[in-house]
Amino acid sequence: MQTNYPFQLKSLPYDYFQLEPFISKMTLEYHHDKHLQAYTDNLNKVLKEIPELQETSLIDILKNLNNIPENFKTGIINNGGGVFNHNFYFDQLSPSVDMDIPESLKTKLIKDFSSVENFIEELKKAALGCFGSGWAWLVEDNNNNLQIIITKNQDTPFKDNLKPLLNLDVWEHAYYIDYQNRRAAYIDAFIHIINWDVVANRL
Ligand code: MN
Repeated sequence: MQTNYPFQLKSLPYDYFQLEPFISKMTLEYHHDKHLQAYTDNLNKVLKEIPELQETSLIDILKNLNNIPENFKTGIINNGGGVFNHNFYFDQLSPSVDMDIPESLKTKLIKDFSSVENFIEELKKAALGCFGSGWAWLVEDNNNNLQIIITKNQDTPFKDNLKPLLNLDVWEHAYYIDYQNRRAAYIDAFIHIINWDVVANRL
């Protein structure tokens, strides 16, 4: 990902139709070209006003929210988080269905969730239980333990000093065209198109 201001819309690592039937071309066109573009434009607008953060990487900005001038903080959290979270999400999806999980990650999932199946169930439960707009995450804490967490709106795990490995967008814009109110069906579909190599490489 491009590290600092001014940010440009990053292309998807696959074609728009390639995640069908799990996520439609139309959903990706809106989600990537409209929603992510808006977060990107709005982040640039905010950072235009904060020259001292223009050379700072987006991740460092999101890790050090106290360094953001108070009147710009909400704009950075919402739009900087929006840019980071969406690029992270799109990068970890794959046209290859039901990929194998690399051993390095599988071992850790089994250690912390007792089985891969149980981890998937816990992730689904968390994503389904997120009230309103937000994200479900697999993260690694400072003791190298894996956890599932929820962040609201466009908050990121960086604010809690956690390392993100996988995220699942449960804002309605991520699934409403394809699944309407059936968030569980979208979550089930999402699980099939995770690029586990990308996730494992984030360890
Ligand atoms: Mn989204």
